[in-house]
Amino acid sequence: MEFAIARRRMVERQVQERGIVDPKVIEAMLQVPRHLFVEDALRGQAYGDFSLPIGDKQTISQPFTVATMTAALQLGGGEKVLEIGTGSGYQAAILARIAVRVYSVERIPALARRARRLLDEVGCGNVNIKVTDGTFGWEEAAPFDAIIVTAGAPAIPTGYLAQLAPGGRLVIPIGPRDRQLLKRITRTADGRLQEEDLLDCRFVPLLGAHGWAQGEG
Ligand code: SAH
Repeated sequence: MEFAIARRRMVERQVQERGIVDPKVIEAMLQVPRHLFVEDALRGQAYGDFSLPIGDKQTISQPFTVATMTAALQLGGGEKVLEIGTGSGYQAAILARIAVRVYSVERIPALARRARRLLDEVGCGNVNIKVTDGTFGWEEAAPFDAIIVTAGAPAIPTGYLAQLAPGGRLVIPIGPRDRQLLKRITRTADGRLQEEDLLDCRFVPLLGAHGWAQGEG
């Protein structure tokens, strides 16, 4: 019960008051029990205005970042979405409440296993998780109506653009290893690409063949 109150306060103060109005995003963030996706010892901080460690040097994003990225995908409800960087599974759970199907890729097996368990626990059976280098996307399941990358990339991996359906949106943090600019790339109905800058941000690095090399940067 106390978690539900903290969650409502999080949504009001950190999401709505900062200008995120998409009712689907608001509803999903009110529903998903974020405290289950953080380490047990950090549950009391789960609804705070910050990112938190989830083990293996990775983090669950700040609630506002999750809200901003999800809203930027402009989901109507019928989409097939690709997420790169499953991490805790929290962002995937938010997407799963809005979209029809979510494909999520994680490179660290232990994180993927934990996320799978949690997503099943909260009833997100419409999420497929794969353990591999997500800088290639998920070719067999493409094209996607929306692609969200929750780790910082040095440049846009070309596979993501190839796997974006006409009208689709890619939301990805691009920049040096310690700070990025959140970008949205839209493939127009006639196949052109439009790029917009959304927000300064700081993500853990996207490591892989089309991302950062381990220890680089
Ligand atoms: N979306 C997550 C937060 C992710 S943190 C959540 O809601 O909790 C970024 C994640 O991206 C980390 O778990 C990291 O292991 C993963 N990652 C980094 N490079 C990757 C790659 N090339 N492929 C797949 N996952 C990657």
